[in-house]
Amino acid sequence: MIPAAFDYLAPTSVEDALAALAEHGDEAKVLGGGQSLLPVLRMRLGDPSVVVDLGRIDALRGITDDGDHLVIGAMTAYVDLIASEAVREHATVLTKAVEEVADPQIRHRGTVGGALVHADPAGDVAAPILALEAQLVITGPGGERTVPASDFFTGLFETAVGDGELLTSIRIPKHTGWGGHYEKFVRVVHQWSIVAVAATVRTEGGTIAEARIGLTNMGLTALRARSVEQALVGCEVSEAAIGAACASAADGTEPPSDLNGSADYRRALAPVLTRRAVLAAAGG
Ligand SMILES: Cc1cc2nc3c(=O)[nH]c(=O)nc-3n(C[C@H](O)[C@H](O)[C@H](O)COP(=O)(O)OP(=O)(O)OC[C@H]3O[C@@H](n4cnc5c(N)ncnc54)[C@H](O)[C@@H]3O)c2cc1C
Repeated sequence: MIPAAFDYLAPTSVEDALAALAEHGDEAKVLGGGQSLLPVLRMRLGDPSVVVDLGRIDALRGITDDGDHLVIGAMTAYVDLIASEAVREHATVLTKAVEEVADPQIRHRGTVGGALVHADPAGDVAAPILALEAQLVITGPGGERTVPASDFFTGLFETAVGDGELLTSIRIPKHTGWGGHYEKFVRVVHQWSIVAVAATVRTEGGTIAEARIGLTNMGLTALRARSVEQALVGCEVSEAAIGAACASAADGTEPPSDLNGSADYRRALAPVLTRRAVLAAAGG
């Protein structure tokens, strides 16, 4: 279908984008890479009268090294993230997850910020962002505020980004020397995750010293598997020990049931995928 008619604005600064959002209020919708918004408009599930395209705001694009953090502009495309040696070195679980997003066309257009604000529970970016304990920088008429990833996803397709605000950047504490892996379970290539697990771990000798685990599509939002993280501390890097520590991966989750699998099926998958993700991240 063809979207309903709308006015198109393409500001070149964050200030101008915020001014456009303030002027048009509920009638305006922000356009990132368009890979989720355009299907919504074409299916007429939304009909904003104004679309504010962030694509010409250069300040929202790129990856910078800020000492102990990497700062990723919200409009950075998946492909640029995958190509970044800094992200691969200091936040390898994010590189691995983004490599699994959709197909090359979508990875060229889609943006990290758009994916996070869209907050699809089956999306592949939220779980590594949770596992890396990132900070999300939100800019609005009153200035900037920073929200920890653990408070960013507030519900199904809902985030801490309010009306008239933009997600402007993502600050990731460097996980230098940590291993990382994203284990995505799908029936066919390029499918959305049925369940997936983002694992980042730091080992000392043959033992896990620290672990962070994010779960994709095990609830209304991406989730941390904190009981597994605790159980992994001090665990030797072996299939048996890691498998035992990952047994509780589905505890406290409320996964969906759909045509790809029941909630029980997803609960059965979670510990298996978590074990695989942790073993790969730990180099086991
Ligand atoms: C066929 C298909 C398959 C896909 N498969 C996968 C997959 O396997 N895994 C996966 O993770 N994703 C998948 N996606 C989704 C894809 O990753 C999208 O790119 C992503 O969900 C949205 O990013 P975007 O930049 O295109 O955002 P847009 O579509 O432009 O925007 C999405 C939402 O975020 C808002 N928004 C965008 N940027 C900002 C900002 N900076 N501040 C405030 N609000 C903003 C928009 O208003 C809109 O509500 C798929 C999409 C398609 C079409």
